[in-house]
Amino acid sequence: MKNTLLVANWKMHLNTSQASMLVHRLQERTRIHRGIEIVLSPSMLVLQPLSTQIDRRKFRLAAQNAHYKDEGAFTGEVSFNMLRDLVHYALVGHSERRIYFNESLELIRDKVAAAIRNDISPILCVGETAQERKDGHTRQVLHDQVTSALSNLTARDVSKVVIAYEPVWAISTFGGEVAKPEQAAEAIAFIRHQVEQLYGPKAARNIRVLYGGSVDDSTVRDYLEVDGCDGALVGGASLNPYKFAGIIESAYRLRHELGEDD
Ligand code: PEP
Repeated sequence: MKNTLLVANWKMHLNTSQASMLVHRLQERTRIHRGIEIVLSPSMLVLQPLSTQIDRRKFRLAAQNAHYKDEGAFTGEVSFNMLRDLVHYALVGHSERRIYFNESLELIRDKVAAAIRNDISPILCVGETAQERKDGHTRQVLHDQVTSALSNLTARDVSKVVIAYEPVWAISTFGGEVAKPEQAAEAIAFIRHQVEQLYGPKAARNIRVLYGGSVDDSTVRDYLEVDGCDGALVGGASLNPYKFAGIIESAYRLRHELGEDD
């Protein structure tokens, strides 16, 4: 039975004391759920202090980005190698990085490989823009983003990858349109199909695929009920302890109703 994975992307918000306060509030409001894995992704600066504060039975940490080389003359960068004892996960290819930092398919492929090399599970974010959807290119975009990002991996490596389907038009800071669960279902099925084409049915069954895009406590259940959706990547709503605790509670209730709350 797969866990439900809930990832909070705090983006470039919260200094150390603000992040610590949010964790304190979340810890008060969150029970230990063995079937639910909650991952917090604060700024790079905050990872170290949070690592000593979090209750590890409740939370894990993710980096929002890292450099694909393990070390070298790359002023200002932090490598996956430097993060390996600190985080379980790292976001790779988030649309804000693809769009604002011009991250290419090749760079994202190298970051995915660097994460795996350093025992960090990459959370590979993929998704089409509003224009690409309008032009009927959604499948082509997902195909290109998934196949290129996974292209240097073995089947064993792929089992450590998480893919988050995040249509750019549904991310609150870009368009904030609410995607219909059917749209998420179709894209998630297509992503799994791509993984199957590349690595076979077992890899496709086992890989975790999340949905992200304006998810909050009132909508998360609709997406978690989508066939093949293993969790959610949450931006804006994860900065609010009431909303994020509500998201966790919804996930818990759904597992309980389905008899999966081990
Ligand atoms: C994100 O940052 O990945 C995201 C999905 O943001 P939001 O939930 O605010 O749309």
